[in-house]
Amino acid sequence: MQMLGTRNPAGSLPENQRAALISLLADDDPAVYQLVRSKLLSYGEIACEWLRPQALSSDPKMRRRVQEILSLHARRKSDAAFLEYCRRSGEELDLEEASGLLAQTRYPETNRAAYSALFDAWTETIRSRLKPRGTVEETLGTINQFFRKSFGPTEARAFIEDKRVKLSGPPRNFAEQAVSMFGHELYEVFFKGYTMKQWGRSPEEIPADVLKRLPFRFNYNQSYYFHRHQGLPKNGYTEVVAGILMHPRISVHYGVLHAPETPTAGYDHVIFTGPLDEWFGYSFGRLPYRTLDFENFVVDGDYQGCPVMNYCDADVPFTRITEHKHFAPWQSYEKSVLSREYSREATPDDERYYPVQLAEEQATLQTYRTAARESHGVSFVGRLATFRYIDMDVAISEALEAARCILRARADKVPAPTFPHERILTRW
Ligand SMILES: Cc1cc2nc3c(=O)[nH]c(=O)nc-3n(C[C@H](O)[C@H](O)[C@H](O)COP(=O)(O)OP(=O)(O)OC[C@H]3O[C@@H](n4cnc5c(N)ncnc54)[C@H](O)[C@@H]3O)c2cc1C
Repeated sequence: MQMLGTRNPAGSLPENQRAALISLLADDDPAVYQLVRSKLLSYGEIACEWLRPQALSSDPKMRRRVQEILSLHARRKSDAAFLEYCRRSGEELDLEEASGLLAQTRYPETNRAAYSALFDAWTETIRSRLKPRGTVEETLGTINQFFRKSFGPTEARAFIEDKRVKLSGPPRNFAEQAVSMFGHELYEVFFKGYTMKQWGRSPEEIPADVLKRLPFRFNYNQSYYFHRHQGLPKNGYTEVVAGILMHPRISVHYGVLHAPETPTAGYDHVIFTGPLDEWFGYSFGRLPYRTLDFENFVVDGDYQGCPVMNYCDADVPFTRITEHKHFAPWQSYEKSVLSREYSREATPDDERYYPVQLAEEQATLQTYRTAARESHGVSFVGRLATFRYIDMDVAISEALEAARCILRARADKVPAPTFPHERILTRW
């Protein structure tokens, strides 16, 4: 981020010199052009006013160069506005507002109000067109279907209240959490087999927290999340991230592996998003993960009528089937690509998907976390570096929070936090 150039007092250039300077912008010598360009940029906002009429010049070279300077200036201004917003908002940062301001650092001409309105309308459309069925979370429809009833929300709540197992203390594991939330029948049919397949362990060995994050509702809302706006970027997250990275002050280098012996050498500060144990060369052992094997297949037409269907029975070897075309219902295809997911323990060569957080792993994790806190010049951000399962919205919000904390630390000349996400967690 760079503040706007303000070294020269605005408007201090006499009219004739200003005209001469601007005419040199179209000079054939690139060195002259670079000199004039940086001189104009140093005048900041006022130079943009001088240049704007030239954006319609009949000389294409002049037009192009003027537009480039205007656009660079606008991006710098947006950078400053984004930075100022992050500093000013502190704990109260509004994710939607921050994303809009961040988008303007790349596309300053973006009309944020219009985009917000479009996005609201779009999520509503998606919600009405996506009718996911068979998801693991319970809804009023499932309760009625399963118990052959026709309850309204209040009756269903009372009915499930009766089914709940009243424990004498807090639930000690996943199974106790489940039966205390909705009783034995729903637990046995929808959760027990699925959990055993997903984690490769009995629900009695799994912490109660794993279930607590799933929504349990007494209405017909089948969304997995409670958020007001839900949707996917039209062309996927890769394009969103590529757009963010297309910034004059960001360069991307692939295949740069960090060396555990000298991990921060040559950098002011490293933000590490890889696995926490890998950062330390696995010196305290490996943190365990579950991974997935995907079995892809293609059919004609529509296979399951929804994006994701969970298979809760223990004797079906896969956990779920994803039918990808239903994530983009505005597109239409005759054929359909699907993936069956098989969960298993990750080996060192596998992609790490779900962190396994049992008692033994907690001890290893704490050792790594202590080592991390004793390190300098590095912040650990994201699901792998903090050894947690997090959803995309949380990953994005934590990344913004991390940027804010690290920038603030730099400005205050104090060490950046080791785990910036803890700043958010302690607020909750
Ligand atoms: C199977 C699965 C399904 C999911 N489904 C959903 C869903 O439906 N909805 C939802 O909201 N979220 C979902 N998520 C969660 C979502 O994918 C994550 O929250 C998000 O991707 C986390 O972003 P991240 O940047 O922390 O980690 P990642 O996206 O994993 O990025 C980590 C980055 O670090 C890089 N890296 C790793 N090691 C190194 C290294 N040694 N050196 C340099 N770079 C390294 C990687 O290449 C990668 O680019 C799912 C996750 C999984 C695993």
